[in-house]
Amino acid sequence: VNNFWNPIVNIGNFYNSIVSGSVYLERIFNMMDIKPEIEDAPDAFDMPDVEGHVTFDNVTFGYEENQTIFENLNFEVEAGETIALVGPTGAGKSTITNMISRFYDVREGAILVDGIDIRDVTVNSLRDQIGVMLQETFIFSGTILENIRYGQLDATEEEIIEAAKIVKAHDFISELKNGYHTYIHEKGSSLSVGQRQLISFARTLLANPKVLILDEATSSIDTQTEILLQEGLNRLLEGRTAFIVAHRLSTIRNSDRIFYIGDKKILEAGSHDELMEKQGRYYTLYKTQSELLSSI
Ligand code: ADP
Repeated sequence: VNNFWNPIVNIGNFYNSIVSGSVYLERIFNMMDIKPEIEDAPDAFDMPDVEGHVTFDNVTFGYEENQTIFENLNFEVEAGETIALVGPTGAGKSTITNMISRFYDVREGAILVDGIDIRDVTVNSLRDQIGVMLQETFIFSGTILENIRYGQLDATEEEIIEAAKIVKAHDFISELKNGYHTYIHEKGSSLSVGQRQLISFARTLLANPKVLILDEATSSIDTQTEILLQEGLNRLLEGRTAFIVAHRLSTIRNSDRIFYIGDKKILEAGSHDELMEKQGRYYTLYKTQSELLSSI
């Protein structure tokens, strides 16, 4: 039944992305000639401007009838908070982010954004206000300027440069021979992974979604790039609620709270320091990861 997500994931692998909600998704749906499975309620209204308060109220969910991914999941995230989702593969981290964008409806309970049950609003008006950045950065063949402008099609060149400056993308761009007018290719390797990500940060900043979902890339990058990306990311996250399926220790440590997902619920929640003190699962994960990293 829930097979519509699969083609998107496949497409995501090619076109990967970071784009604010429905514009991007609709392009994909048009391309694939498939319709989102979630339909608007007959009396659905448009989601008002989102502030970014997100609540899971006793959420029970499974993809299939006979399967439960979460049982009575409860959490509340304040507007502007950055949440790192960690835990074993298959625990349900991506499922949480997919549910916030309402790719799936809850089986029981409710998901609220700014106190509004997301089933009460139109899917497009919700997704328009949620930025999604998938693991691999979406770059299309065109200039850097055009690639950043994709976040907000009527942005001026000044606004684009300003966005690039904020997320620390400006320096590398201005060092290129043709600067913002440098032509880049969808599959080309003219840009490093880090540079592609900086472009996507600038694009998302322009799109300005109040809720941001980020599936962090697992690809390894050098320490200097990691520091630069962390700075850019921190600027991007300012004033937004963010859910990050996080793999980098620096991202996790910098988040306001970490949710350790497992056994169909949140097993541990708190800041890095709080969870380290607790010496539970997060502590073990962190120790293992740090050892892994320092042994490379
Ligand atoms: P994580 O992001 O923590 O690795 P996921 O949220 O991707 O975990 O997956 C949680 C569980 O749900 C896994 O057991 C996975 O196999 C299952 N799952 C994910 N997507 C689907 C789907 N579209 N249909 C059925 N099961 C799915």
